Amino acid sequence: MAEHYKPVKYKAWEMTLEERFQEYHPPLSDREAVLEANRCLYCHDAPCMVACPTHIDIPTFIRKIATENPKGSARTILEANLLGATCSRVCPVQELCEGACVMEHDHKPIMIGRLQRYAMDYAQQKNIKFFHQGKPNGYKVAVIGSGPAGLSCAGELAKLGFDVTCYEKNKMAGGLDTYGIVVFREPVEVSLAEVKMVEELGVKMKTGVTVGKDITFKEIVDSNDAVFVGVGLGSVPPMGIPGEDFEGVVDGLDFIAETKTEKLDTIKFGNRICVIGAGNTGIDCATIARRLGSERVTIVYRRSEAEMPAYHFEYLFALGEGVSFMFLTQPVEVVGANGKVEGLKCMRMDLGEPDQSGRRVAVPNPGSEFVIPCDMIITAIGQKKQSDVMNALNEFGVKATHNGYISVDPETNRTDNPKIFAGGDCIRSKGEASTVAAVQDGKIAAAAIHMQLVGIPSPNKKHIEPVLSPVV
Ligand SMILES: Cc1cc2nc3c(=O)[nH]c(=O)nc-3n(C[C@H](O)[C@H](O)[C@H](O)COP(=O)(O)OP(=O)(O)OC[C@H]3O[C@@H](n4cnc5c(N)ncnc54)[C@H](O)[C@@H]3O)c2cc1C
Ligand code: SF4
Repeated sequence: MAEHYKPVKYKAWEMTLEERFQEYHPPLSDREAVLEANRCLYCHDAPCMVACPTHIDIPTFIRKIATENPKGSARTILEANLLGATCSRVCPVQELCEGACVMEHDHKPIMIGRLQRYAMDYAQQKNIKFFHQGKPNGYKVAVIGSGPAGLSCAGELAKLGFDVTCYEKNKMAGGLDTYGIVVFREPVEVSLAEVKMVEELGVKMKTGVTVGKDITFKEIVDSNDAVFVGVGLGSVPPMGIPGEDFEGVVDGLDFIAETKTEKLDTIKFGNRICVIGAGNTGIDCATIARRLGSERVTIVYRRSEAEMPAYHFEYLFALGEGVSFMFLTQPVEVVGANGKVEGLKCMRMDLGEPDQSGRRVAVPNPGSEFVIPCDMIITAIGQKKQSDVMNALNEFGVKATHNGYISVDPETNRTDNPKIFAGGDCIRSKGEASTVAAVQDGKIAAAAIHMQLVGIPSPNKKHIEPVLSPVV
């Protein structure tokens, strides 16, 4: 099979390795930003703002760019979303603000994401501090996990005067923004600058500390007035097929993390790679592999193109990067010799009736097995739930949803234990998991913790009576 493969001309390979992993979209120049901002109609009802899960005042921040006030623009963004720099890069804007922009119908939507990045780059490069720690109110809050949900909650609480400690099991804070978003979409430095901003608000960041191992949940719950759980999800689950312990089978999240934390020329990759799973993680792994230099990268997915969970623009991006797709193909065995991968045995599938999610199920077609020769297999079939965290929280009365996520009241993100709140991927039992949704979860929980402990209502939120007194 390999000898029939004819490599196509691939533009990225004409660049150096470092250049291939630069941010994919260049920043807008001052002139480009002002010109683009001037296209905005500053709509009275601003559908773009409604479509943004954190409800950034988009017309106002764009107006400030048009009047050459990027600093004011950055403030408007950060007031609604402390992780505005990350969101400007990673948000699926086509599905959110830009998808709702009135200019979408007749012309081209306003480049809201790139304008937001323009303002945020300005603020980060000039190291402008917009907010400061609030006057201490005597309450202590622990935040478990420093991904976008945890950072947003911690930062908002620090602004309100809470004494916040954030516990993070990784060496660096930032969650998937630091370790999971491909580097040509978001450089690590952008995420770490947001972590620094939150620390400068007075949040104590304890990295390298796993809650449940290095410190117990009980110690944290007992010594704080409220706890926010933003632990995200875990590693990629096993596929449950023979041979998956062979050398050359790697977890997609580890593969991406390596490209964010290690020198690019030290990363091991195969020349013929099968990526299993056609979600956004699968696309990321496949495009990274191509940019590293892998000649043939095939995404194997058991359903059809219509059911694939990746965004359409991601799919088109992967095709442009020379990634091939094998739909209606189910891996059944990793084939190898001497413990090393040599191929992926697959079975053809047919499409059956729709399942509960509305997607048509893949039905095996026995006798259709074939082997795709490859020297590396990257698994990207979703993330495991953090069942150890769930079990530990159960002891405090925190309940799980029917499918194993942390159950919360959506108005407040409060769990069944009034002292414990949660947000981000660990509560997202339905709907799209995204950075911006996690940021909003953190904001909602911070407002609810404030109302619950300090007793001050927040706009658009029903008042919650204070139920706890400060831990002394
Ligand atoms: C490969 C990949 C690419 C993605 N790309 C995009 C994208 O382009 N756009 C987008 O909007 N979304 C994207 N997402 C989704 C987005 O990254 C997540 O929805 C978001 O990061 C969720 O935030 P979180 O804070 O809930 O969790 P996370 O970002 O996962 O952070 C959780 C943090 O908690 C820490 N933690 C866990 N357990 C413990 C413990 N016991 N003690 C201490 N710390 C703990 C973890 O180490 C981690 O740092 C992507 C996801 C993946 C996997
Ligand atoms: S919908 Fe489009 S044109 Fe209207 S305010 Fe938002 S960005 Fe501007």
